[in-house]
Amino acid sequence: MSHVFHRVLSRALPRAVRADGVWIEDADGKRYLDGSGGAIVVSLGHGDRALIDAMTAQASRLPYVHGTAFTTDSLEDYADDVASVLPLDDARIYPVSGGSEAVETALKLARAYYLARGERSRTVVIGRRSSYHGNTLGALDVGGKEQLRRPYAPWLGRFAHVDAAYEYRCANPAHPVGCGRWHAGQLERAIVGAGPATVAAFIAEPVAGATLAAAVPTDDYWSSVVEVCRRHRVLVIADEVMTGFGRTGRWFGLDHWGVRPDILTAGKGSTSGYWPFGFAACSGEVFETVRPNGFVHGFTWSHNGVGAAVAHAALRRLRESNLVQASALQGELLLKDLAGALAEHPTVGDVRGIGSMIGIELVADRDTKVPFARSEQRTERVLAAARERGLLLYSNAGHVDGDGDLLMLGPPFTISDEERGLLAERTVAAITSLDG
Ligand code: PLP
Repeated sequence: MSHVFHRVLSRALPRAVRADGVWIEDADGKRYLDGSGGAIVVSLGHGDRALIDAMTAQASRLPYVHGTAFTTDSLEDYADDVASVLPLDDARIYPVSGGSEAVETALKLARAYYLARGERSRTVVIGRRSSYHGNTLGALDVGGKEQLRRPYAPWLGRFAHVDAAYEYRCANPAHPVGCGRWHAGQLERAIVGAGPATVAAFIAEPVAGATLAAAVPTDDYWSSVVEVCRRHRVLVIADEVMTGFGRTGRWFGLDHWGVRPDILTAGKGSTSGYWPFGFAACSGEVFETVRPNGFVHGFTWSHNGVGAAVAHAALRRLRESNLVQASALQGELLLKDLAGALAEHPTVGDVRGIGSMIGIELVADRDTKVPFARSEQRTERVLAAARERGLLLYSNAGHVDGDGDLLMLGPPFTISDEERGLLAERTVAAITSLDG
């Protein structure tokens, strides 16, 4: 009997005892290849000395001060450095403890911006269906993952939603022609429908992750939706919690399309999972607008100096070891291997991704794209087969009207060629083990 209220209640979890590089070992001595860096988090591998040393040095010097009483060298130094890679003009960062808090902060910041401008009617945020922004109530509400929303539906419903860019099942009748324009039209209708003077922000993941498994938009998507937002003076919030810090092979997901948002959120890879950390960042223009009235917000653990020190060490490692380029290269090779090996597989509908963010969509019928019924528990069974083979994958299920099966790979960028080969091999073996 355990006194822990575990994340998973349907099966006993193995007890992890140590980790190194891309490997995690449990108490029975079984070694797992961490093919998804947990929840697409661990980008620098386990056991990185530079991050551990930065954490212990800052914790020894100054473990905690409250953000309303002090700033710290570690926070100031990190903010100066990270501002140089963020796709924001004159960035300001508001550090928090993770992705959901970063999203809550971003939503409130958009509201604070319009309150400061005297546009009190701008309260609506437009999110996307089949998106994920976190599990706190504001983030859950602006997100679009139905299974997570359902139990809490009576508490939700403040925000509007449009379709996500999801090329495999795109609703644009002319697909693949003009998808960017089609999505922009849908967003504009949502803004006009809500009343343009009531809309504060549009929030989206640059590449849809947790709910759509690395669904990469067409090249015209981001420029088209941002143009609509600018025309209606709707702030653009890029949720880079999963795509940030090299995951897609560029520093940030939006760098692929040369777009600069007004507000950006980060988490996961910002510390490669070594410390619970994230931030909302905004442009200097948003900050200067909000500054005179102040920002009514804050957490006990926000602006944490140890978190900033670890994030700074992660930033340096990414930069000094060229790991953003490694993410692009290893990801491209992994995607090629998987796409090749699964090209004819009867239950693999799509293998997609960008950089080290890769998704596999399983279907009952490749031609019609009909998904497996949820009752078949296809995702769960592939994941179990992978675990049996010493492989950890990330997943999502139920994105097609309650059915649908998605696997996600997102290994540390430090993965070796040999480990990458093993990752592809075990993934294919786990999927294939359910055949027949
Ligand atoms: N935003 C995005 C895009 C995410 O992928 C996630 C987590 O998967 C979150 C926000 C929430 O982050 P956290 O789980 O750290 O609260």
